[in-house]
Amino acid sequence: MRLCAIATAIIYWALAVPGYAATIIHAGVLIDGRHDEPRSKMSITIEEGRIVSVAEGYIPPKDGDKLILLTDYTVMPGLMDMHTHLMSQHSKDSYSEKFFLDQADYALRSTVYARATLMAGFTTVRDLGDNGVNSVALRKAINQGWVPGPRIFTSGKSLATTGGHADPTNGLRGDYRRDAGPVEGVINGADDARKAVRQRYKDGADLIKLTATGGVLSLATSGQNPQFTDEELRAVVATAKDYGMTVAVHAHGTEGIKRAVLAGVDSIEHGTYMTDEVIALMKEKGTYWVPTNMAGEWVAEKAKEKGYFPEIVRPKAAAIGPEIRATFAKARAAGVKIAFGTDSGVSPHGENAREFELMVSGGMSPMKAIQSATLEAARLLKIEDRLGTLEPKMIADVVAVKGNPLKDISILREVVFVMKEGVVYKNP
Ligand SMILES: [Zn+2]
Repeated sequence: MRLCAIATAIIYWALAVPGYAATIIHAGVLIDGRHDEPRSKMSITIEEGRIVSVAEGYIPPKDGDKLILLTDYTVMPGLMDMHTHLMSQHSKDSYSEKFFLDQADYALRSTVYARATLMAGFTTVRDLGDNGVNSVALRKAINQGWVPGPRIFTSGKSLATTGGHADPTNGLRGDYRRDAGPVEGVINGADDARKAVRQRYKDGADLIKLTATGGVLSLATSGQNPQFTDEELRAVVATAKDYGMTVAVHAHGTEGIKRAVLAGVDSIEHGTYMTDEVIALMKEKGTYWVPTNMAGEWVAEKAKEKGYFPEIVRPKAAAIGPEIRATFAKARAAGVKIAFGTDSGVSPHGENAREFELMVSGGMSPMKAIQSATLEAARLLKIEDRLGTLEPKMIADVVAVKGNPLKDISILREVVFVMKEGVVYKNP
């Protein structure tokens, strides 16, 4: 009897305590990130930034509850982009701006890109490579509520070998072309690799990004040569694992992709020259692929414009850019695990949803494309216990579009409602 009385008292206390007011979303159509079928006329109840229930029908709000009417909209989990560069946005001036911009300039400018990304419906991003620790500062500013932006998981500075894709001194004149080392993310040998990973950990990075092959936009000849040895790759992966970090790998050429997959990395970015052998290997190892079709499309387009790229970059952009579409069609059909990523910062920030159209035109169903940017992305980040679906106990990241994205995927470019952790940033 006494226990019963105590239980009753606790229930009365819970009901009486102010601050228990909920936010209820009435969703005309719900795509929850997990199920392959959308559901109509659903209610999502949110308390303290977390989803407490997802129920059929329109639940009426109680006194003090806040009602958000999205009965004419399709409601989805906050979108997640697994490949952004919030510290930059490519232009003709990109190659010279490092001589004119201070670190504070980069940091302040990135707040504009972060806002555009959030307003486009992307509530989480994986930022894969900046010029130092600015993305760590941006992550802090967003987490503190100083500026609006997506939740950031950042790699800080990308790792490269000397002369490799992310060597910051590539292509500069002699007195600027210094011998950069592991603190700047340039490694040669396993010891350097370990030091560079530990430096990223010290800098506050969440994960490791490395450039296993040449790339399109760096001032170097090859866009696809292998640039890390097996030993270096294994040293990065083992050290990252010690520090609880995942490893994302930029790779275009076949040999570099293969070495990285064999070393046990978590994701291949771009993966342009992915052969059937590599596809089979990735499926066996469970390696994620982040295709970045948009980057391929964007560089191929800009390569046609004479004078836009430096002459060392232009042929690479023209050759590598268009290849990614054929690779996408092939690897998707073969069943490689795909997580959504755009390489935004190559293309302008805030246009991320264009990638959905390229994925669907490459043969992916609209529902699978949406899941690649929700549940699959959360799995790649190993945060699927709290993000990526609209289910009880999950963090309340919610977006909505007018109309049916399963019929017309391009409407994802017009996200009209954005909630991140229960806070509304955009409302129709
Ligand atoms: Zn990139």
